[in-house]
Amino acid sequence: MRCRKCGEKACINMRQHKLALCKTHFLDWVPDQVEHAIKKYSMFTHHDRLLVAVSGGKDSLSLWDILRHLGYSADGLYIGLGIDDSVSYSDKSLEYTRRFAQEQNLMLHIVDIKAEYGETITAVAMRTHRGHYKPCSVCGLVKRHEMNRIAHQNNYSVLLTGHNLDDETAILFGNTINWLGNYLIHQSPVLEANKLGLARKVKPLCRIYEREMAAYALLRGINYIHEECPFSIDSTSIYHKELLNNLETDRPGAKLNFYLSFLRAKKDGLFSSATDENAELLHACSECGQPTTAPGLCAFCRMFVST
Ligand code: SF4
Ligand code: ZN
Ligand code: ZN
Repeated sequence: MRCRKCGEKACINMRQHKLALCKTHFLDWVPDQVEHAIKKYSMFTHHDRLLVAVSGGKDSLSLWDILRHLGYSADGLYIGLGIDDSVSYSDKSLEYTRRFAQEQNLMLHIVDIKAEYGETITAVAMRTHRGHYKPCSVCGLVKRHEMNRIAHQNNYSVLLTGHNLDDETAILFGNTINWLGNYLIHQSPVLEANKLGLARKVKPLCRIYEREMAAYALLRGINYIHEECPFSIDSTSIYHKELLNNLETDRPGAKLNFYLSFLRAKKDGLFSSATDENAELLHACSECGQPTTAPGLCAFCRMFVST
């Protein structure tokens, strides 16, 4: 297989794009695709203050790397969740993130949830779910809250996450088979800021396949944590990813088509008559000031502050 651009030996064949590329041209192609998405969805400009949520995994570290390559200046945010399994997942992921930031001379904010609030997310999950150990819902809530807090306190205008196309289609598939209308309305490459101080959130890798991101990290020599979070094993989203991978094997491009068709249908007004049930109920939390629909304290503050 030869590179479409230069005729040298290709290192990757992307059947979904009918495109084979050598290392040099693939390492140019990925940032070009990301830049295309940034512009197409008007995510941000070179004047914005950018904060990337980094986990030590291939997607977020590669995103940080690509932004630098494209000439954007972006700081990083690592949230230490305190997941202390046999491979010390949290410690290890911090180590990879810190090393990357040091090597590239990038500014990294680190939030240690236990040091900040007195408990790890697994301890909170045990306390609030009557000993039920899987902390994913607590984790999602904590990450959202802390990303917003750090963005707000440090005047970042845009928050970036490393969700790739496989993540987005797995979420879309789950939302669709359960007809979760409110989630479908909000699923987008860009979530606008709101007047109560919620930061603008964007997903610049939303059109890039997971396989392409893994190849990018490998070819760029990025050291990242290969282990997945121990709580992701057996998760529904991994099951949905497997189903979609089977579909993709039979029909190359199916995942990209699923996602882009959804975005097109939304743009054409698929949900135009639907209302965002929560939008009018939002008010500022009396403790932290972040938007919430709950009366008084937001869900995060109820979990930590009121104990
Ligand atoms: Fe958090 Fe994801 Fe791990 Fe669940 S699987 S605890 S959401 S990092
Ligand atoms: Zn080439
Ligand atoms: Zn609050």
